[in-house]
Amino acid sequence: MRKTMMRKMAMKMMMKMATTKYIKLFESFNQIQITGEEPFIKWACDQLGIKECPKIEFGEDHNFAKERRSMAYFNPDDYRIFVLKGTRTKADWLRSLAHELVHVHQLERGEKLNGETGSPHENEANSKAGELLRDWGKLDASIYEA
Ligand SMILES: [Zn+2]
Repeated sequence: MRKTMMRKMAMKMMMKMATTKYIKLFESFNQIQITGEEPFIKWACDQLGIKECPKIEFGEDHNFAKERRSMAYFNPDDYRIFVLKGTRTKADWLRSLAHELVHVHQLERGEKLNGETGSPHENEANSKAGELLRDWGKLDASIYEA
């Protein structure tokens, strides 16, 4: 029991350290733009019942994502979501964004996020993101473009 808790705490610390490192790295990229203008963001926050829509940062650098082994992430510490746009299709990066927004909602529900593959939080984020994309596709046909 104690061992599991220790492992969880160590994992959390490592995750936090990693996030901080990436944020610092991330700030050195000048192609990043902060925007709250994307209509999808507001719509998705409303759909999910998110009270405080986070800031979204879009990146263009595939190498950054490659280094992180991640297309997107949510940092609860500064309440920001990072999403790689780059050469990905709109449907693809919107799905990543939707996935991270589900994590925001999970946090607002007072849950301790578990980002492990196959965890209830990850499964919810994956399935809900798919649903959001299907519904958004009815409003915005451009997501079907290559
Ligand atoms: Zn996730």
